[in-house]
Amino acid sequence: MKELSVELKDELATVQMGNHLADVIKDGAIIYLHGDLGAGKTTFTRGVVQGLGHKGNVKSPTYTLVEPYELAGINAYHFDLYRLGDPEELEFMGIRDYFELNSLCLIEWPEKGAGVLPQADLDITLEYVDTGRKITFIANNDKGASILTLLKQ
Ligand code: ADP
Ligand code: MG
Repeated sequence: MKELSVELKDELATVQMGNHLADVIKDGAIIYLHGDLGAGKTTFTRGVVQGLGHKGNVKSPTYTLVEPYELAGINAYHFDLYRLGDPEELEFMGIRDYFELNSLCLIEWPEKGAGVLPQADLDITLEYVDTGRKITFIANNDKGASILTLLKQ
């Protein structure tokens, strides 16, 4: 499956969609999160990371750029590149280590890291619709497509 769109009527629906993605992620993936400020990128990420077993808060790492979560069976990294000045800063942060095999990388504002970030398996876009949101998943390769197939079930 290449593309999937779902309406999310409230914050809980966004968190639950993130939980659902956590359930079908087996090997990690590179996921770009698109959408305006307040669209729900961090809320969705919270659902994913908590769905993978994290018990505490999930805040956007606006100043630190990345927050690591060492979880049972998977390392997850939540990036928020909103304040990244130059994609090259990612090299100085040792970004390659984060994209190790089998890690799950969820990246807000990936356009700020263009040229340095690896390609995404999945692009996710959150949009405002009335008082809720719409989430659209686009698979860029076989790995992304198999995640979407599982997500649809
Ligand atoms: P972003 O990381 O995209 O800037 P946040 O996740 O930090 O956005 O904030 C999203 C805001 O929208 C939060 O106040 C959250 O409660 C709210 N929200 C999340 N999902 C929905 C939804 N499906 N419908 C309505 N409000 C939502
Ligand atoms: Mg955010």
